[in-house]
Formats: sequence, structure tokens, C-alpha cells
Amino acid sequence: MKAMVLKEISPIENEPLKMEALPDPVPGPGQILVKISACGICHTELDEIEGRLPPRLPIVLGHQIVGRVERLGSGAAKFILGDRVGIAWINSACGKCPFCKGGRENLCSAFRGTGCHANGGYAQYTVVSEDFAYFMPERFSDAEATPLLCAGAIGYRDLTLSGIMKGQTLGLFGFGASAHIVIQTARYWGCEVFVFTRGEEHRNLAKKLGALWTGSPEDEPPKKLHCAIDFTPVGETVPQALRVLEKGGRLVLAVIRKRNPIPPLDYSQLLWDEKEIKSVANITRKDAQEFLPLAAEIPIIPEVQEFKLEEANRALILLKQGKIQGAGVLKMDD
Ligand SMILES: [Zn+2]
Ligand SMILES: [Zn+2]
Repeated sequence: MKAMVLKEISPIENEPLKMEALPDPVPGPGQILVKISACGICHTELDEIEGRLPPRLPIVLGHQIVGRVERLGSGAAKFILGDRVGIAWINSACGKCPFCKGGRENLCSAFRGTGCHANGGYAQYTVVSEDFAYFMPERFSDAEATPLLCAGAIGYRDLTLSGIMKGQTLGLFGFGASAHIVIQTARYWGCEVFVFTRGEEHRNLAKKLGALWTGSPEDEPPKKLHCAIDFTPVGETVPQALRVLEKGGRLVLAVIRKRNPIPPLDYSQLLWDEKEIKSVANITRKDAQEFLPLAAEIPIIPEVQEFKLEEANRALILLKQGKIQGAGVLKMDD
């Protein structure tokens, strides 16, 4: 099969992904072989390539995979040949530890990420345990479905961890790929959404997607927020969000790392009255299983810009420069 392979950590500008002919993967017991038709590209891949989140090497990146089941490993019985499936960031977890047993497999110490610890979707084929593949609703094209597997499923986890309930007020700090999808789910649930972002274009899009109010992170919204989700990579938004949070409200931090430190938090001003801060790590299968049919029902149809597999370096350079319209997707030839 054709695959774009990463062999060494390097700035993406050096175009470190190389096209190679690899042997077709063979599904082991309980696994399926998937013929990939589309794989989304993600900022996490830039972190892997450039060494901020070092993957196993050599590696085939990509964790937003849509394709069809081509072969079944021994004992695999969840799918039949030709089923359309999706594969997300969670590639496997131990299944035995207290986290796995308690429904928090995202926190498993043996958590393995697709396209990081196991080969992913920048290729014509991949194998995965059938338990870690999902039926894809027919509503979306292959390319449109890919962002739902990362930005979508993770955004859904952020939203559910925020504890938001129907009719409550939700603040979104930053308005990127995940927030675009979160706002549509929150509006569908009847929540009032307030979006804090600096870019004029982002604010216009937020209003188009149903934001009741938009402003800068330091602005005062017309109502206190029951919940807030911070998608920004900066520390300052944490006190800003806590300041406009309702008593007993929860702030969810959706990013893996903050570029600069969180400023000191004044306890009586920002944390008193039972305010909470929670971070989010990885996703569980349940997040994807619940979110995919919900996205089809709403419906959430992401905007995508397609590239060929061999254009992966160029697509990631454009992603780094912020020049992709909607979500970038690698589309495989038949
Ligand atoms: Zn991702
Ligand atoms: Zn475990």
C-alpha cells in the first residue's frame, strides 16, 4: 500500500513525510482491515511531527479515518465486509484497570493513540480492533465525516464534562474547529451561547452558528455563565472565564497545554462560591459512539478542504499557517 511515513522529528517546512510502499497490514484476531477513503489532518499531527508530542517512529500519522471494512481477522464479528467505519484517536486501552472498568478508558496508563502509538490513516489501509471502530451514519460524505472523529468527538466530551443542561448559558473562549461543532450541539440542546474571541471573522461565524453574543475574552457578557469551555492556548483566559462564571459554575480547559502560565487566581474573587476547573484528556469510545449519531441528527456537516495523500506535507504547512478553509482532509484514490 501507499503511505506517507514519518521517520524523524522535524519542522513540517522540511516536508518530513515521505511516500513509501509498505506491505498491506494484516488484521490479527478481533481486528478489521479498513480500506481508507479519507483521513482528516489535525494540529496534533503537527505536534507529533515537530516533537511536542513525540510518536513511535517510524509512524503513519492520522486519527480521523473513514473507510470500508475490507477483511475480518479471526473472531471479528461486529462488522461485515463493506461496512463504512470511522476510527478516532483512541486506538486501544488495557480494558482491565480501574479507569477502563469505570468508563474512563481515556485515562488508562496503557492508552494508545491512533497515528501516534499505532499506524493511522495517512495510507491506503489500516488495521484496528473492531471494538475501536464505529459505524458511520450515512448523512455525511467520507471527507465530511472525518472532522467529527476528532474535533467533533473531543468537543462533545468537553461539552458533556462541562455539565451543561438544557436552557443554561455556555461561554466558549476561542472559536476554532472544535468550538464550531460544540456551538451547534449546544444550540441544539437549547443553550444560550456566548463566544469570546478576538477575530472579526470568527465572531461573524459564531453569530451565524447561533451565538447570542460575541466579544473579547476580557468583555462582560450580558449574563453570567453556567459553564465555560476554554479552547485557547493562553493562560490569561482562565481568570477571565472564572470572573464571568455563575456561582457553582464549571470551567473546562480543552487544550493539552497552555503556551504561557495561568496567572495567580484570586481565591475569593474567582474560585469561591463552588466554582470548578476541569481539564480534558483524550476521548473514550462512548464519546464517539454518542456523538456520531447526534451529529447526523442535528445535522452538523463540517466544511472541508480536500488534498491528495501525497500532498500531506503541503496540507499540514497550510494548517500551521492557518490557511485551510474548514477542516483539511486527505482523500485517497480508489
Ligand atoms: Zn485530532
Ligand atoms: Zn486501562
